[in-house]
Amino acid sequence: MRFNALMTRPHTPAVLISEVGPRDGLQSVQATMATADKLRWIDALAAAGLREIEVASFVPTHLLPQMADAAQVVQHALRHSAVRVMALVPNLRGAQAALQAGAQKLTLPVSASAAHSLANVRKTPEAMVDEVRAVLRLRDELAPGVPVEVGMSTAFGCTLQGQVPEGDVLRLAVLLAETGVDEIGLSDTTGMANPAQVGRLFKALFQEVGELAGAAHMHNTRGLGLANCLAAYEAGVRTFDSSLGGLGGCPYAPGASGNVVTEDLVFMFEAMGVDTGVDLDLLMAARAPLMAGLPGEPLYGMTPEAGLPKGWPGR
Ligand code: ZN
Repeated sequence: MRFNALMTRPHTPAVLISEVGPRDGLQSVQATMATADKLRWIDALAAAGLREIEVASFVPTHLLPQMADAAQVVQHALRHSAVRVMALVPNLRGAQAALQAGAQKLTLPVSASAAHSLANVRKTPEAMVDEVRAVLRLRDELAPGVPVEVGMSTAFGCTLQGQVPEGDVLRLAVLLAETGVDEIGLSDTTGMANPAQVGRLFKALFQEVGELAGAAHMHNTRGLGLANCLAAYEAGVRTFDSSLGGLGGCPYAPGASGNVVTEDLVFMFEAMGVDTGVDLDLLMAARAPLMAGLPGEPLYGMTPEAGLPKGWPGR
């Protein structure tokens, strides 16, 4: 077996894998990972060559005790100079704390579904656009070099509202683009997307907001995570959120993994000859500190189960 990756390995990675396990993964599990374990895990992710890691969420501790150490985790992660340290912030107050801690990129969730937005942040999507404006003003004041991304949650469907019309998603994307935000991604928060929809909506997003179109954030709730990422790639997307071991699960689909599994996503791209900059052996080794910090938590991923095939670089 020959892999294209052997012959065509460009200098600059062709896709950016943005690891969200320490944020999206950890906030979805019951257990709280000890800070020291989180730091060891993040070190292992950095060693594997991941260049962007969403390390924490700046939310009130009483809502998410798993994230009480967010500032400490950001400060630790900053020692990895090759990693862009990213934090999720739901509002202005979170943005202030994240910027003070030294976060190098912020991501704000803005729901495309009004029902999800009201349930999640008690604000309409339009009110969240105002919050984005406020965060951008603060960013300009405190840390002008820090990019701010919006991840549009429930862009492909919503468990509360059901279908989310594509026109609603695109209208909201245009409003967001007008705020001056740096990137607008689409998130399949509830694992309802399919590849045809993903390709269509990302193509439409590129048409509406051009190069501001950002990450594909896919969940693997119904097993379509990788297919959806491939559809997004074919539509022109080059940034992909994923989580080591598919950490997180999904409360709506017992037994299903949460985010797209980073190991499988990296395997797919590398096997296709699309450079990720990630070392798969070191990436799989990063499961050990994760398991040590969250004993008993199920991890997912087909590539770690099967191992790397014969003929793979280094095999
Ligand atoms: Zn997610």
